[in-house]
Amino acid sequence: MSPLVDAFEFSPEKGALQQVAEGIWWLKMPLPFDLDHINLYLLEEHDGWVIVDTGLGGKVSRDIWQRVLAEPLASKPLKRVIVTHYHPDHIGSAGWLCQHYQVPLFISQKEYDCAALQLVQADDTALLLQFLASLGVDQNDALPIIKASGAVLHMYDPLPENYHTLHHDQTLEIGSRQWRVQLADGHSPAHATLYCAELNLLISGDQVLPRISSNVSVNMNTPDANPLACWLKGLQSLQSLPEDTLVLPAHDAPFYGLHRRLAGLQRSHDELLEKLLGLCTDEYQTVNALTHPLYKRKLQGFNLLLALGECQAHLHYLQSQGKVSSQQNDQGQQLYRLK
Ligand SMILES: [Zn+2]
Repeated sequence: MSPLVDAFEFSPEKGALQQVAEGIWWLKMPLPFDLDHINLYLLEEHDGWVIVDTGLGGKVSRDIWQRVLAEPLASKPLKRVIVTHYHPDHIGSAGWLCQHYQVPLFISQKEYDCAALQLVQADDTALLLQFLASLGVDQNDALPIIKASGAVLHMYDPLPENYHTLHHDQTLEIGSRQWRVQLADGHSPAHATLYCAELNLLISGDQVLPRISSNVSVNMNTPDANPLACWLKGLQSLQSLPEDTLVLPAHDAPFYGLHRRLAGLQRSHDELLEKLLGLCTDEYQTVNALTHPLYKRKLQGFNLLLALGECQAHLHYLQSQGKVSSQQNDQGQQLYRLK
């Protein structure tokens, strides 16, 4: 299968803009993680700007937004903020942007509710401790996870108290163009992507990334969920877009090769499922016991939490296929074995 094609030879410096299509600009915002940036997009209307995703809450993002909106884009005001999903690198600065520039937020209901829940849970470790215990994580590993998770949950500015809800298959008019909103579950419960047929351009958020695969995890709020089934359905529905769509992802660089990337993502989950099935035996095992051999690299802190959640998501998918069975023991640990 031929590789993906980068859409542009150059990418902007962090904090800088690059035009990617008529009236569409790419802003690379720094992040203090291994994944060191998020791509945000600005859409031009005749009388202002619409932004898609915001960066983390806090001073770094604010300073960049104030500079960008005061200098290169100063000829028109900010009009609207659209957020693809509730993760802090996407929605973190939305509250400040909406309040400071007096503009409305557009987001799906489930994503707003999840973001609101994150803010409530930022200082409450009891549920996470209980969830980690159910995965078989001991106290030594749990403490750094709780610390790292708490830090991430503090990367949100307070949310706007009113907002406009995005709906699946809704058409948004931005400038003179029509953008189709699609919502998909899996990476988050109702992640929005925006497709403009006139430009043949998809703002994909974390729903399709060119090099890394998005985390698909069971989390403490919905420990029985089967997010991988939803995620794979979401990948299939994007197959209806043309292969030569220009994809503007939230991380890495804009690219061509949508169908190849969707097939590659499906394959990577198939491989992980097969590997995980090979690790399951007739004996019951915890998620923690299966996660470390599954990834074969040192995992700790927030990365360990993501890996545990992803392992459990794949276990729940295997369970839904009748290949694995599960039960809870007296200590509240969820255990899995071959069926
Ligand atoms: Zn995300």
